[in-house]
Amino acid sequence: MEKKDYYEVLGVSRNASLDEIKSAYRKMAMKHHPDRNPDDKEAEEMFKQAAEAYEVLSDEDKKARYDRFGFDGVKGAYGGQGFNDFSDIFSHFSDIFSGGSIFDDFFGGSRSSGRGRKRSIGEQGADIKMRMPLTLGEIATGVTKKVKVKAFHVCDTCKGTGSKDGSGYQTCPHCNGAGEIRQVTKTFLGQIVNVTVCPTCQGSGQIVKEKCPACGGEGRVEGEHTVDVDIPSGVEQGHYLTIEGKGHSGKRGGKPGNLHIIFEEKPHPFFKRVGNDIHYNLSIPLTLATLGGEIEIPTIDGSTKITIEQGTQPNEQFVLKNLGIPYLNRNQKGNLVVNINVVIPKKLSAREKELLQELSESENFKFIKNSKKHKDFFEKVKDTFF
Ligand SMILES: [Zn+2]
Ligand SMILES: [Zn+2]
Repeated sequence: MEKKDYYEVLGVSRNASLDEIKSAYRKMAMKHHPDRNPDDKEAEEMFKQAAEAYEVLSDEDKKARYDRFGFDGVKGAYGGQGFNDFSDIFSHFSDIFSGGSIFDDFFGGSRSSGRGRKRSIGEQGADIKMRMPLTLGEIATGVTKKVKVKAFHVCDTCKGTGSKDGSGYQTCPHCNGAGEIRQVTKTFLGQIVNVTVCPTCQGSGQIVKEKCPACGGEGRVEGEHTVDVDIPSGVEQGHYLTIEGKGHSGKRGGKPGNLHIIFEEKPHPFFKRVGNDIHYNLSIPLTLATLGGEIEIPTIDGSTKITIEQGTQPNEQFVLKNLGIPYLNRNQKGNLVVNINVVIPKKLSAREKELLQELSESENFKFIKNSKKHKDFFEKVKDTFF
């Protein structure tokens, strides 16, 4: 099924504020909620689409990616296949659905509050950021690159559990399974209770019974993996791509982090990128500019011939359509802009000097002092000054 633009799904403009997005989503979710529309597949689909759109547009980072790269930028941001069931959706939006809102009717009671919930024994892995330098040619065509990522991997010996020979977990002796440590301090104002996360079990209330010797109980070891990165054509310096789940593995079966690839543009020896156009400075001899002729020039992926018109002036520009950089997610390309530079030779052979001197006397080259042409010229200059 063709995916609908997230802004369109929520019926907001592209520069809508977070509050507007939130409010639009509430309205959509209320209207299409399955409890209100039993056995209505269309409403269910709308409900899911709205949830997906909200998931992306309410997150600054994901929204920025979506604005730049479209659906490609947020691929996998919700597990790649959309939400599978409604409880999935609810667990994603505890912020918008929680606490005293109109949603209490729908969701009240069935969900845990989230506060005071014990952490799981697994810990999410950290994200990894990587720079990726690209040539202008790679940017123009798009490219798939293999990158090696040094990252924590799931420990093979214990399959990520962190426990030796499947010995499993036991209640943390430090906090007796509470996951937190309460400290009561008596002051003259009364008792002060300070609750901190248990440092032994990091709040999970459990510890590995017997640590796996290969990973020391972490469930992960240092390693390296190779990731294929599909780079669309038209990316720019500073654009980035997030590949879900390709960062560090989590501790003891925790979710892996993400891999962020940040693109950099390598400078090109003779092309300059200006937006999606490519600028090229072409130096031609005086004779070619004057007489005209054909000349071959380089393009981003080969070469092409252009015709220099008779009497081409210095700084004249030739715009060659569609020979620039493609626009991201658009079937359109920038142009190749050729700036003409006319070269005046600094050294001349005796013969060349002779020819030029002869030429300087002929009609279209001479410039005689005190001629009518000369006087007219100075009159014009005066007009501009006074
Ligand atoms: Zn292990
Ligand atoms: Zn503990």
